[in-house]
Amino acid sequence: MKVKIGLEIHLELKTKSKMFCACKNDYDYEDEPNVNICPICLGYPGVLPTVNKKAIEYAILLSKALNCKISEKIQFYRKNYFYPDLPKGYQITQYKVGSIGYDGYLYLNLDGGKKVGIDRISLEEDTARTIQTEKDEILLDFNRSGIPLIEIVTKPDMENPKECVKFLENLRLTIQYLNISDANMEKGQMRVDVNVSVEDNERVEIKNVNSIREVENALYYEINYQIEQIKAGKKIKRATKMWDDYLKETREMRRKETEDDYRYFPEPDLPHIQIKDIDLVFKTPFKVYEEIVKLGVQKDYAEIIVRDLRLCNYFENFLKHSGDAIIGSNFIVNILKSFDKLPEPKELAKLSILVKENKIPNHIARQKLNEMKENLNVENILKNMDILSDKEVEEIARSLIEKFPEALKQK
Ligand SMILES: [Zn+2]
Repeated sequence: MKVKIGLEIHLELKTKSKMFCACKNDYDYEDEPNVNICPICLGYPGVLPTVNKKAIEYAILLSKALNCKISEKIQFYRKNYFYPDLPKGYQITQYKVGSIGYDGYLYLNLDGGKKVGIDRISLEEDTARTIQTEKDEILLDFNRSGIPLIEIVTKPDMENPKECVKFLENLRLTIQYLNISDANMEKGQMRVDVNVSVEDNERVEIKNVNSIREVENALYYEINYQIEQIKAGKKIKRATKMWDDYLKETREMRRKETEDDYRYFPEPDLPHIQIKDIDLVFKTPFKVYEEIVKLGVQKDYAEIIVRDLRLCNYFENFLKHSGDAIIGSNFIVNILKSFDKLPEPKELAKLSILVKENKIPNHIARQKLNEMKENLNVENILKNMDILSDKEVEEIARSLIEKFPEALKQK
């Protein structure tokens, strides 16, 4: 049966301050509850928000990295609803027109292949955090209220849970390359809502699944459930569900609000923002992969390096010291990857050149790497190795020819 999956991802940004006030953005959740607060992020009546420029810059960066067009004029809206984590009664967000980016895509593989469409990328403020205690009390932490949040809405282009996993892995990696968020799902820095429909029936939304693995599990469960329902002749109703990662099942929560319920209207306290002359330098895993493969590195090695930011930064440093890309990538993937600490990139670069020029045999280089680990020192290897000069090699050859003249004639 035909399956269509779309995603809505919320991403907390690593800015110093919040979206519309100067409070500290403690997005790692390390501070005591309710210390980074002010009248603006507590939603007192009559206060005026101001826009965080860095957050806009980060949203433009992500939009560009996801191949989106950028709106010339950015506009904020009020989304009206009341919930205990949003006492001011509305969230400042963006709406159909004037969101930061629109009409982009992300490849499912580092070397291209299928694209998943990005509908739009917008900026909004996070709500307060609700914490349920063992005594069944609900506590509110307003440190989170007003943290800059990017919303990424995809087109329903994914056809199975595996494609979703690939999309989310590539998205998270791209975000980490841009360094705009750590995108840690367990900390809630990246939250994923999944929309799934089978055979063009009504779509079901699954909320707040907190790891990529659980997104996959939730989808397998929900798709199988819907297929069974359809086969039994039952109707699929539009619903919002929760994924219970303990019982491994989806459960219905509430009927989805329609857009009218939110009564969106332009935020009167914030001006339109014109975006001009954007010239941002950034790298994406896709670009870096392409560059590394161009250097002759085999594709599976390039993928392992690009998918691990630590290795990738290291490899780039290694290349800056004129290391040999092919030999270096081999050492990194087969030996260095398991090290806690990596040797100086300069030393590995020197070693790779000596191996390339046959001055140190490959197996010796590997052995030394394993022995010296992060303390790799090429001078020391050379000192303790009997490396023959060209003249010495010639002398050995001559003496062998004199000793075995018959062997030479046999050729
Ligand atoms: Zn504040």
